[in-house]
Amino acid sequence: MKFLCCSDTHGRVPPALDEQGATAWLHAGDVYNCLKLGRKPEGRNDFDKMKSWLAQRPIPVYASAGNHDCMNPCNFDMCYDVDIAKITPKLSLVRIGWHNEKFDDIPMESTIAKVVERAMRTAYRSMKDGDHSILLCHWPPSLPPNSIPGIELKQEHGWIFRSVEMMVDALRPSAAIFGHLHQMERKTARVNDTLIVFPGQTGGTLTIDDETFLATYEPSNLRPPIR
Ligand SMILES: [Zn+2]
Ligand SMILES: [Zn+2]
Repeated sequence: MKFLCCSDTHGRVPPALDEQGATAWLHAGDVYNCLKLGRKPEGRNDFDKMKSWLAQRPIPVYASAGNHDCMNPCNFDMCYDVDIAKITPKLSLVRIGWHNEKFDDIPMESTIAKVVERAMRTAYRSMKDGDHSILLCHWPPSLPPNSIPGIELKQEHGWIFRSVEMMVDALRPSAAIFGHLHQMERKTARVNDTLIVFPGQTGGTLTIDDETFLATYEPSNLRPPIR
């Protein structure tokens, strides 16, 4: 199964990835570039282009809210808390979303921990032993040392979350797609059997093997269109 991934497109349309044979788009948040909740959205956003991009998609587009998604004027299927959707009888998409009224009011560890707890309870209720999953979340996990050569992700307020690492550890998804850390664009890591992916705005193609449910990822070289 093939999934098209991206994150942090910040008010521009996602990259023109090849949709042939793909099951769904997975957007790990900061779909918009909104600055705060209000009657009129603030920030630079190509709303018309985003709306027509969304209307023209032949496959579902799933997103998890990031800190710039305090409004959803284009009506993306955006998870603002916890959502679990069955992609196939054996594969679920687990989404965790969180945002505040202003983009720069970023969450504390304890804030995300509460959402993670709800997500875990929902996952335990709705998934059976032997079911597989993909996790889609804007908020990155801390990672064991040397997971990505030359990069150490340590817990840092508002940027990296221990509770998300614990969720990856407990849920053991085939793949976990994250955003928020723009400098991690195109990077991947393998933790146990989980492929951690930071697709960034260039995006890429995630493949889940139909038999083994092992994930592989191919980043693209595409850039979103210049404004
Ligand atoms: Zn971002
Ligand atoms: Zn962000």
